Amino acid sequence: MSRNILNKYWNEELETMPRAELEKKQLADLKEIVQFAYDHAPYYKRSFDAAGVKPSDIKELSDIQKFPFIDKKTERDTQGVGSLLGELVAVPEEDVVFVSTSTGSTGVPTISPFTKQDFEEFQDTESRWFWQIGMRPNDRYVHALNFSLYVGGPDVIGAQNLGALCIWGGTLPSERLLFILKTYQPTIIWTSPSYAWQLGEKALKKGIDPKKDLNIKKIIVAGELGGSIGATRKAIEDLWGAEVYDFYGLSDIFGACAAMCEAKDGLHIAENHILVETVDIHTGEVLKPGETGELVFTTLRKHARPLIRFRTGDIGWIDNTPCKCGRTHGRIHVIGRKDDMFIVSAVNVFPSDIEAVIREFKGITGEYLIRVFEKDFTCKYSVEIEKKADNPATDESVAAEVSTALKARIGVKPYEVIVHPDGDLNTRSEHKSRRIIDERKLNYNI
Ligand SMILES: [Zn+2]
Repeated sequence: MSRNILNKYWNEELETMPRAELEKKQLADLKEIVQFAYDHAPYYKRSFDAAGVKPSDIKELSDIQKFPFIDKKTERDTQGVGSLLGELVAVPEEDVVFVSTSTGSTGVPTISPFTKQDFEEFQDTESRWFWQIGMRPNDRYVHALNFSLYVGGPDVIGAQNLGALCIWGGTLPSERLLFILKTYQPTIIWTSPSYAWQLGEKALKKGIDPKKDLNIKKIIVAGELGGSIGATRKAIEDLWGAEVYDFYGLSDIFGACAAMCEAKDGLHIAENHILVETVDIHTGEVLKPGETGELVFTTLRKHARPLIRFRTGDIGWIDNTPCKCGRTHGRIHVIGRKDDMFIVSAVNVFPSDIEAVIREFKGITGEYLIRVFEKDFTCKYSVEIEKKADNPATDESVAAEVSTALKARIGVKPYEVIVHPDGDLNTRSEHKSRRIIDERKLNYNI
């Protein structure tokens, strides 16, 4: 590999491109992909015609706002119509070399197809993120993500292409994974934030101190919000003596579409691949950079299934101001899933805000379960936590303190805080943890 390992950028010209130039490049790709989608994907032809818009209407980036949205439901409804891959797909099946599928946690699993070029560009983007967090060819890397169907599995190829020694860990049981971490002394691992935390705790219980007995210097986390919650990130960093970096991906696009740099102030998004908009969750009105709303992505270069104005269901904001690291691509700050948000006394509550409070507390384990329910026809929430075995405080005083802290951060008090003994909450899982139970019967959703 001819790349200079001292260069902090994987692709300096692309990553530090002046924004005016980057936007020029985005515009050229946008024009091309919108035309391609219209010409080859039956759904887009129909929906653009119905909306009275045509690809030649795009003269500048903001002209994308004239085009209709799509979302997960569009993917599901068009899948299998006319062909296996369906009406959003713009290439014949013989040009498709890879498909991932979503977990189907919110309905029918959706297929995400890639052409050979889509897949190569996906992997180059992954190499770029790995390089950005400091991975170099002399690193040993454990990819501890699910390989079955999941778009995050093949990200490991990005690390291999970079030249790192890669161990395809997948979803090994913790005992085996700890054995590998101890025996091979890898320097970087990628897993979910809740699992990073649990694995560290499990190691300690087995007499392995992650800080002394293991060699992990960097932990990549994704799939849950923890990596972008400062208190959670710090708790994992302290446990492992390692730096934690948050990555953000979508099964519909890439395993990771955005990643933290050393500044850890939001996640740089690959703007050469994705045109980002933020819109009002109710009205769909386009918001300004810095304003919080639903993230809407248009893929600029994926030809198998172009996504034009895809509503991600993720709530966040974009920051296009210069980053300390010198990269010019904007940074997204994701604060939660639209589906997980609930409204209590007219206040929007995100589970991530609750987590941030819980993880800052000493004397409790950091595990939590949120219940959302109705009482007297209004929405309430309660939080269940675990008191550490060595905490001498009474359950009542712990509950009162946590309740006050939640009120201070979120603006509305929980209906109750229930304190369990250490280890009693059934929220520890090897992958994504289930931490919110919605018991509402009336529809309060947005
Ligand atoms: Zn940066």
